[in-house]
Amino acid sequence: MTTGFDVINPATEEIVETVRLTSAEETDAAIERAHAAWPAWRALAPADRARLLRRFASAVDADIENLAQLEVRNAGHTIGNARWEAGNVRDVIQYYSAAPERLFGRQIPVPGGVNMTFAEPLGVVGVIVPWNFPMPIAGWGFAPALAAGNTVVLKPAELTPLTAIRIGELARDAGIPEDVFQILPGKGSVVGQRFVEHPLVRKIVFTGSTEVGKQIMAGCARQVKRVTLELGGKNANIVFADADLEKAAATAPYGVFDNAGQDCCARSRILVQRSAYDRFMELLEPAVQGVVVGDPSSDATEMGPLISAAHRSSVASYVPSDAPVAFRGSAPSGPGFWFPPTVLAPVSPSDRAVTEEVFGPVVAVLPFDDEEEALRLANDTEYGLSGSIWTRDVGRALRVSRGVEAGNLSVNSHSSVRYWTPFGGFKQSGLGRELGPDAVAAFTETKNVFIAND
Ligand code: NAP
Ligand code: MG
Repeated sequence: MTTGFDVINPATEEIVETVRLTSAEETDAAIERAHAAWPAWRALAPADRARLLRRFASAVDADIENLAQLEVRNAGHTIGNARWEAGNVRDVIQYYSAAPERLFGRQIPVPGGVNMTFAEPLGVVGVIVPWNFPMPIAGWGFAPALAAGNTVVLKPAELTPLTAIRIGELARDAGIPEDVFQILPGKGSVVGQRFVEHPLVRKIVFTGSTEVGKQIMAGCARQVKRVTLELGGKNANIVFADADLEKAAATAPYGVFDNAGQDCCARSRILVQRSAYDRFMELLEPAVQGVVVGDPSSDATEMGPLISAAHRSSVASYVPSDAPVAFRGSAPSGPGFWFPPTVLAPVSPSDRAVTEEVFGPVVAVLPFDDEEEALRLANDTEYGLSGSIWTRDVGRALRVSRGVEAGNLSVNSHSSVRYWTPFGGFKQSGLGRELGPDAVAAFTETKNVFIAND
């Protein structure tokens, strides 16, 4: 049975729109249409596929303000972030629009003939998107998949379907055939599940919780279905005493509280060298209190609400009444799923807030004595997605960068995502890489062909 889902504005708790949920039968039909559309899409001349993608990027560019406003209403993202996110979709489509004309194979010297390789598309790719970054995470999957000559079915998170639906319309307006790129709003247990089970879906790109990611990987194993996973993180921001402490403290809140902490790259553990600990905490307190929390549609706002009431309860469970709260920022009262930026210290290394991904604006601060202890603490987690290292010592920056078991590190910065560079996790943070120059390879199979001389 097909039903509707009420999309709620997390800043006001008002219903924005009711979205029709796709049924299992409709999902199967969409997958079959995507499969039927594949031969023509892959056969399109590379320059024509590239041109369509560039038109798609232009259509997104022309719609950035609308997409951003939609995300403010649907996900409570700050308008500044939402504009960046819509711009990221444009940039990622633009970046991979160069791929169709550069899908090179190799000619490899062999005796008796000529040997060449081809990068063949896979077929239908299923992209399953979470609610925390509905636009960028969708684009990191669909753009390289389409560029490589695959067709795409995409399931947005139930909570945040609006921008994906709009991006699907923009693709059609740009001339991408309807069945080549289909948006299927619906439940993970229905639409997502069919992507995993349906044999015509040849690859799953999943971003979300580690728990669901493991189920998806197990489901894909039955058909040896290709899978890319981007899962959780419990990332460390490591601050050495020789760092620019003012800058480290001023930026630390944004390294964890951006998007209200609903970011797999959130630096939700701050590890501070003991000799600088007191000074760092003195500087951190005003920085945390200075984070502007409130109406996400206001240009000045730096942090909005959490995505849902249920998620707020989950985040709040990490800050029970006897939690070691060092200091907190502010949050509006009244309607909306608000939670103030919260700093826990001193906190036991075995506290749930230190070991689990909170996915909210809660950070734990822990001291360490030397590089060895910093690495031991940073790596004391099943996750391995991102992290930051603050030091003025270049040798130490290199040693610690090589020592942290994580896919995306930044030194004297908190940036994790640049579309030019590979993104993904070590350990249980994921499998495979997105973005960067090599992402298209994850959407192709290498075919080797030998042609005899005689
Ligand atoms: P989730 O359950 O893993 O959902 C992610 C996506 O997978 C959604 O589109 C979801 O659909 C879909 N899904 C759920 N169950 C599925 C299934 N059995 N088969 C196929 N698809 C399925 O994540 P969540 O519940 O939104 O968030 C829970 C926690 O996951 C968060 O608190 C956070 O710790 C973590 N998380 C991490 C990231 C990340 O970027 N790594 C992103 C989001 C969440 P529905 O929308 O219908 O559930
Ligand atoms: Mg879930």
